[in-house]
Amino acid sequence: MARLLLGFDIGGTKIGIGLGDENGKLMGQKRIDNIDTDPGVILPQMLDIARGLAADAGVKIADIAAFGISAPFPADARNGILLAPTNNKRWNNVPILDTFRRELGIPGCFENDANCGALAEWYFGAARNCRDFIYLTMSTGIGGGIVANGKLIRGGNSLSAGEMGHICLDPNGRKCNCGQRGCYESFCGGRAVADRMREELADQPDSRIMRIAGSPEKIDMRTLEQAMREGDAYAVRLWDEMAFRNAQAIGMFINIFNPEKIVLGTLAWAVGKLYTDPIMEYLPRFCWRQMRGDCEIVCSELRRDIGSYAGIAAARNYLYENPER
Ligand SMILES: [Zn+2]
Repeated sequence: MARLLLGFDIGGTKIGIGLGDENGKLMGQKRIDNIDTDPGVILPQMLDIARGLAADAGVKIADIAAFGISAPFPADARNGILLAPTNNKRWNNVPILDTFRRELGIPGCFENDANCGALAEWYFGAARNCRDFIYLTMSTGIGGGIVANGKLIRGGNSLSAGEMGHICLDPNGRKCNCGQRGCYESFCGGRAVADRMREELADQPDSRIMRIAGSPEKIDMRTLEQAMREGDAYAVRLWDEMAFRNAQAIGMFINIFNPEKIVLGTLAWAVGKLYTDPIMEYLPRFCWRQMRGDCEIVCSELRRDIGSYAGIAAARNYLYENPER
């Protein structure tokens, strides 16, 4: 019988709790708001919901093989402690992993959310059966996870490997949120690109992008996409530059890891070929032909449901890495 798994997905505004099995069958899930919450209140609530989902499915918590927590960084990942994620300032120093292990009485793990996205695509999505692949979120920021030689790469002490959005593509580029200049994310992350458009178009209220958005604060990637589709010269140029920088970064990853697949999230599946085709055109400049030939570039299969699988995939991977459990 397929082993049962419990997943917790802590997002900036919502928390998802899900019960499923190791084959990716979801048996129940629930989402609650996570805006300015107090961990002293919401942790017990998450546990109650988990117990409720188990009861509804007619299983005991003790019958669940493992739980997984998908959490935003910063965090002390080794010890499963949350350290004031940007959107949850009151969550400082919350030992969520120990608390849940003690309260649920089953083994569990704590994993950063970008890695959980990679694990979800690995076990249940576009990267099934791959031994070497890279998952890239293409959302407000750029993050991801690397699976090499059949194992998630976590890195050393701070378990921070896979911060692919912050490789430097141009030391003279725009300042990135992280403090460096010219990071991949500063060229292709949704927030950075929107900030750039707002700056560059500040004195052009009649520009197509400003007109589509209605007001500067509404400018986002979808505004850029629409303006580009309408043939706006500024948007076409910016879109092309984004493709070039995406290819530059992805080409490096291909040459370093020789992956079978690169799985692209969010913007890539939302926009489709108009996003990925120009990247493919620039790719030959940035990686070797043979390795490019080895690598398939695909969009996320789980798409907007990826959060429902994040914690469950972490639990599934925990069992894979700890087979004695
Ligand atoms: Zn950066």
